Amino acid sequence: MQKILANYHTHTVLCDGKNTPLEMAQRAAELGFTHLGFSGHMDPDIHMEIQEYYRQIGLLKEQFKGKLDILMGVELDALYDPDCAPQAEYIIGSTHFMDVDSEIPMSVDNSEEMLAALCHEFYADDYYAMSKAYYELEATVYDRLHCTFVGHFDLITRFNDSLHFLDETDPRYYMPALEAMEHLVKQGVPFELNTGAVSRGRKKEFYPNNYLLKNLHEFGGEIFISSDVHQREHLNGCFDEAARAALLCGFDHYNILEHDGTGKVVMREVPLR
Ligand SMILES: [Zn+2]
Ligand SMILES: [Zn+2]
Repeated sequence: MQKILANYHTHTVLCDGKNTPLEMAQRAAELGFTHLGFSGHMDPDIHMEIQEYYRQIGLLKEQFKGKLDILMGVELDALYDPDCAPQAEYIIGSTHFMDVDSEIPMSVDNSEEMLAALCHEFYADDYYAMSKAYYELEATVYDRLHCTFVGHFDLITRFNDSLHFLDETDPRYYMPALEAMEHLVKQGVPFELNTGAVSRGRKKEFYPNNYLLKNLHEFGGEIFISSDVHQREHLNGCFDEAARAALLCGFDHYNILEHDGTGKVVMREVPLR
């Protein structure tokens, strides 16, 4: 199996991460990475100074020129401003927030309490109704953001290992998920296999879970492998396990982004074996 030496889902102190961009790049270089993509959050509950972000990542690109291909991406949310980071070189299209009429933005991954309140107030405590609404919103993520790839597809299960509010083998859960997935695959947008929750010990399975990942392959979907890292120790967290999971689900390659000779960002397939 090949070592995975690239990550495109990287948070820093400029949003909600613990390390500076420089510390992340140094860690990537230590690990022998060839590519590192930063993906600052631009969410309503996480403030990031976008000009400062552009400046710092721009400087790093110069500093690591010839050693590490650094890309400046952004992680956007399906519900919020798609044009808030016009200079970003790629976009992760994520669905954290539900489209409900509330005073504060309500996300599915903030806390168990918020999730319960969200479901109680807007879905009459019916978690299947909530997850169906989640996937219906997520199915629009490409139309809304024209994202480069879809972030943590089944984030709605963020607290499911502890709370068991959804039976992920129940068709009421997985049918709406598969519908959204098939729709997005038909639009030609790749998905990430996100190891973040597993490497932080929050979940047993990656996003998407094995069942959904298998179906992603059957639909003809493409994958990136990313760590959704918030602290440098996890930059390549569970990458070997993710590669094994991808192989088991039928994938023989994953994808990376890189600058070509003209400085344009292009996608390239890399074999898993
Ligand atoms: Zn996210
Ligand atoms: Zn993220």
